[in-house]
Amino acid sequence: MTSPASVVLVFLDPAFPDGRLADASKPQLMVTDQGATRGDGIFETMLAVGGTVRKLQAHLDRLGGSAEAMDLRIPDQDAWRRAIATGLAEHRSQHPAASASEDELVVKLVVTRGVEGAPNPTAWVQVSPVGAAGRRQRETGIDVILLDRGYDSDAAERAPWLLLGAKTLSYAVNMAALRHAHKQGADDVIFFSSDGRVLEGPTSTVLLAHVEKSDGGASVKRLITPQLDSGILAGTSQGALFNAAKAAGWELGYGPLEPQDLLDADAVWLISSIRMLAPVNRIDGKEIGTPSLQKELTAELNELFAGIQ
Ligand code: PLP
Repeated sequence: MTSPASVVLVFLDPAFPDGRLADASKPQLMVTDQGATRGDGIFETMLAVGGTVRKLQAHLDRLGGSAEAMDLRIPDQDAWRRAIATGLAEHRSQHPAASASEDELVVKLVVTRGVEGAPNPTAWVQVSPVGAAGRRQRETGIDVILLDRGYDSDAAERAPWLLLGAKTLSYAVNMAALRHAHKQGADDVIFFSSDGRVLEGPTSTVLLAHVEKSDGGASVKRLITPQLDSGILAGTSQGALFNAAKAAGWELGYGPLEPQDLLDADAVWLISSIRMLAPVNRIDGKEIGTPSLQKELTAELNELFAGIQ
């Protein structure tokens, strides 16, 4: 767990163009803030490496999309960029000994609908260290269980008020699913829809790979993710990795996927900005793919992903 003392906090505040630094170990939110009372808000979680946020534009664009989905007016992208720079500079000044190139930091952007009755959103940036568990799972891989999310794969289109493709603060269900998995001895979850489609993890996107020999004997590698319009969050990591993989000669595919497709894959991963690629070793106790091929493909995709800015 991250202690508040190790978190740098910057509020977006019109009176402070570069953001207003605040003490994360002291109370900072009003109890009537609708982020706290209703989970009414949105967020992004990004990785900074060596002082630079990876895929920043994609995250800011997705934050804008989430805001639009819930009719929330949020600060403009330049204000976010300035507050992020302030947070990273403050972290650097508090930890001058850390070598910039080794430094991995979580940069979180949060916006709520603000205090009840007030016209402005509450918006802040948090900078904190990356947790050890996620780093470890990049190496060891994870065991996952399949869980029913209870919506069909058309629900997002039919019922946009469910906000299924937005990154809202209402993550209590996602966290409950993770606790359920931990109680079963698993590390993570892959949700499926009530009509049997593979969706996403509670905090990650699902990827699978197939390797086939072409007629000429060369191997054809295909990277596949669930359909983006099936009520899942469009992952910035998946989007960036797909671009890099395509440039490196991989074929790409977008669902629909069923749980059996995961079991038949040569390798499966959960991908997200902070943990990056976590290889899936077992799903509901069944081994996935072959360990040597999984290792080889993971190394190749890790290299492609590391090259993304
Ligand atoms: N899907 C969900 C539900 C998530 O919460 C996340 C990230 O937290 C992702 C997918 C992966 O998104 P990204 O790759 O942009 O981190």
